[in-house]
Amino acid sequence: MREKIQLQCGECKHRNYSSTKNKKTVTERLELRKFCRSCRKYTTHKEVR
Ligand SMILES: [Zn+2]
Repeated sequence: MREKIQLQCGECKHRNYSSTKNKKTVTERLELRKFCRSCRKYTTHKEVR
């Protein structure tokens, strides 16, 4: 039941990370502070499919 997701930078829209999440335990949209290589700083990354 794990779903593939990607994490997209909120500023440059690059998809920098891919991950999976368990849809049964995590129902809300993921938002993580991650390092973006194209912005060269930490930005908020949002889950995209
Ligand atoms: Zn970025």
